Amino acid sequence: MNVAIITGVSGQDGAYLAQLLVVKGYKVIGLSRGYNNNKFERLDYLEIRDKIVIEECDLLDLSGVINVFKKYLPAEIYNLSAQSSVGISFDQPIGTIQYNITSVLNILEAIRILDLPAKFYQASSSEMFGKVRDLPITLNTPMHPVSPYAISKATAYWTCINYRESYQMFICNGILFNHESYLRSPNFFIKKVISESIKIKQGFSTHLKVGNIDIKRDFGFAPKYVEAMWLSLQREIPYDYIICSGTSVSLRSVIEHIFEVLNIDKTKIVEDSTFYRPNEIDDSYGSNQAARELLGWHYDVSFYEVLDILIKEELTNNKSNK
Ligand code: NDP
Repeated sequence: MNVAIITGVSGQDGAYLAQLLVVKGYKVIGLSRGYNNNKFERLDYLEIRDKIVIEECDLLDLSGVINVFKKYLPAEIYNLSAQSSVGISFDQPIGTIQYNITSVLNILEAIRILDLPAKFYQASSSEMFGKVRDLPITLNTPMHPVSPYAISKATAYWTCINYRESYQMFICNGILFNHESYLRSPNFFIKKVISESIKIKQGFSTHLKVGNIDIKRDFGFAPKYVEAMWLSLQREIPYDYIICSGTSVSLRSVIEHIFEVLNIDKTKIVEDSTFYRPNEIDDSYGSNQAARELLGWHYDVSFYEVLDILIKEELTNNKSNK
């Protein structure tokens, strides 16, 4: 039985990837910084908590990482653990940069020191490209990161490439654009807008306060994106892949679609410049050509269809929670 280790298994992508690997017959070891109340609710939601082994592991502690790798000798390691919020990274720049870089370095060092023949996937981010001149974003696009989060991910990305080239290790960067699901953390834009809009619909709130909603982003559906993570480790040759939908939509059109579906008056959208980020990217979308051609990964879901799925799931769970 193939053994796979997933770090950050309690997060959105960790839960969906664990579900996929369980279905594919892997023995899945999920690493987490520690246990606390409701930590693994995403795994419970997908009904896979009892199908995986959870190990407490602090990725900042190299000896702990070495021990867990030695114990399970994984064939595949997926590193999804990170302080993953751009917004939080402006408030916690040092913590974000320290964690998101050192955790990756420790995993790479553990693989190297143990001479482990494992394939490694690193969750890189489209945020690394930041302010770009030409769209779509490809692997040749120069990076100009504009947040502490982006800097941390860019450093981790180049560290992975350096280890691949220096030590011939099987390492893939998956450069993912925003991908959403019902299991997204509540502090992220799409999840927040859907739940706030439902509160307006139900009379618990009066309006939706937003920042700059004329910016455009490339959004996708998380359960489809984790398939690309797995596919990238199934090839014989390690490579880096951009995983995205290939088109961008404005935040305004996203909000208006949600309001239309929920039948809410658009005058309830209140724009507030105090919500603007210190350094914002106007438009961003990528090319998924390599993922399509080399991985056979296909993505043809419109983001408005994804929104419909998410609104429905949020409403269903909202009712069942009452
Ligand atoms: P989540 O934030 O949902 O999960 C990340 C996990 O990382 C957490 O569950 C947590 O697990 C662990 N973690 C470690 N340190 C911290 C910290 N300081 N603060 C918060 N969590 C921490 O992320 P996603 O599942 O959405 O993303 C997975 C990976 O993909 C991340 O590396 C992210 O940066 C990257 N990515 C995500 C995109 C997206 O749109 N979702 C886009 C591009 C990249 P625990 O506490 O159990 O250890």
